[in-house]
Amino acid sequence: MAGMIPQPFIDDLLNRVNIVELISSRIRLKKSGGGYKACCPFHEEKTPSFNVIQDKQFYHCFGCGASGNAIVFLREYENLSFNEAVEELARSAGMEIPRDEAVKRQYDASQRLFDSLEFTSNYYEQQLHQHPLREHAHKYLSKRGLSDDIIKTYKLGFAPTDKSNLAPHCSPERLRDLIETKLIFNQDGSPPFDLFRNRIMFPIRNTRGKTIAFGGRTLGNDKAKYINSPESTVFHKSHEVYGIYEAYKSNRHIEKLIVVEGYMDVVSLAQYGITYGVATLGTATNQDNLTALLRHCSHLIFCFDGDNAGLKAAHKAMHNCLPLIKDGVQIQFLLLPEGEDPDTLVRKEGKNQFETRIAKARPLSSFFFDVHSEGLDLEIPEHKGLLKNRAEPEISLIASATIKAAIKDQLYNLTRRSYKKDSFQKGSFQKNSSQQPYQNNGFYKKIVTQVTVKRKPDISVCLALYFYPEKAIALSKHIQTNDIADQFPAADNFSNFITSQSIETNNELLISIATDSDNRNYFYTLFDDIEFMPLAEDALQEAHDTLNKAAQEKRRDALLKMSYTKSLSNKEKEELRDLSTQGEDSLP
Ligand SMILES: [Zn+2]
Repeated sequence: MAGMIPQPFIDDLLNRVNIVELISSRIRLKKSGGGYKACCPFHEEKTPSFNVIQDKQFYHCFGCGASGNAIVFLREYENLSFNEAVEELARSAGMEIPRDEAVKRQYDASQRLFDSLEFTSNYYEQQLHQHPLREHAHKYLSKRGLSDDIIKTYKLGFAPTDKSNLAPHCSPERLRDLIETKLIFNQDGSPPFDLFRNRIMFPIRNTRGKTIAFGGRTLGNDKAKYINSPESTVFHKSHEVYGIYEAYKSNRHIEKLIVVEGYMDVVSLAQYGITYGVATLGTATNQDNLTALLRHCSHLIFCFDGDNAGLKAAHKAMHNCLPLIKDGVQIQFLLLPEGEDPDTLVRKEGKNQFETRIAKARPLSSFFFDVHSEGLDLEIPEHKGLLKNRAEPEISLIASATIKAAIKDQLYNLTRRSYKKDSFQKGSFQKNSSQQPYQNNGFYKKIVTQVTVKRKPDISVCLALYFYPEKAIALSKHIQTNDIADQFPAADNFSNFITSQSIETNNELLISIATDSDNRNYFYTLFDDIEFMPLAEDALQEAHDTLNKAAQEKRRDALLKMSYTKSLSNKEKEELRDLSTQGEDSLP
């Protein structure tokens, strides 16, 4: 790509632009010594480690290692391609990029297509406001609860019902462009007709905001509810992401993206304040889509409808994700309740509840085992074997060695041990360190914790409370004494609820839930992501282990912190050593 623009021009351009000006027009720089400093725009930090060095026309972050010249900065900060960054810089410096004839022709041709697509997008938007039959479209949009603002943000439009809407408004040259992008057909010399008719129009824009294609939702009874522009020289559907331009516009820094199935889902989520929704443009999420998504953000939450088709699509997306997982990439899956999609659900629940779901989405690793152990009872040795057979070929697809090892270890844990709880009691297996490979490798441990398939600790304590509400006082005392309430907010809350209602048996708890809708709502969200109810006594054991572990970790961290400022007594040292070597994986 760089070859398209002559190197001497690039050198000249870099000599003319001032990186300090370029960066300071985007983030606030502070003079410091011979250079400038700021909080890094490429990673989260509180103290500035991002440096801009005027003499060298260079930036460097000591926190995350980001560094480069003005072109690199623009590429990273504005998410541009190399050519786009050079174009942008050249524009700001008032320079024209010299191109050879062939390249120039190609460049001009795509600029022309962009112009024609922009013209079309404006046309559809105008029709939504001016066409005599626009009411028809308005009715649909208001049924979906969309505000004028959000319609404008996503530049929604209306393709009228007539067979040919666009052509009468086009110059011959524009007509040629629209035929090339297949928005207009003229077969065998018959009069030209439009691809999109009687539809709500969703312009698909690239990160620069250029319209590259359209999606259209029928307003009639068309069999094809949604259709897309066919591929063209400016639109390769597996490389593009619907909603990404709008997501960048609403979020300076995209921390996560929720990937939904439809355009309307993206727009509805945004309407309710969830402005990081995007949709891929194929029927299933393939690896090109994933690569495109990961270019924007390394934390993806895939959201699927709660029906069979949704589940199937989720399996497929998971399968396709495996080769692309590397350290630092976080992928989660959110399956919605049956019969719901993001559009219907966010309208029903609103932002907060929907975001609670997003926060609780299953990590890829646990979803992986959910999927592969479907229909299996892992207490049966033969089923353990089946799980191994299903999972191993999939695990081998994972590219990252550390993550692969971590998931393998999970598989090993799931298929190796019996679930009988006495085998986990202190001493019996914790001392047997030969069964716990890598136990002393801190980095590895961290990854295992990230991908662990365990229940959330907070929720496992809630489960115990559910079975044994009479233990609420004792459990909450334990939480307070060990100062771990911050880690168990739900359990703390739940036990307060139980004691405040003087509930003493599981039966009483069930009655209070069944007869009081507030209690019911509370209860349902609490146990939302529990798929398999454990036995009561197992739940209690798990809660005990969880609380003990948290208390031990709290104590360990306190001792560690102490050790930074003073030397520990021998007894404290011994305690710290004991606490540090106790296994992370004392639960299956
Ligand atoms: Zn940084």
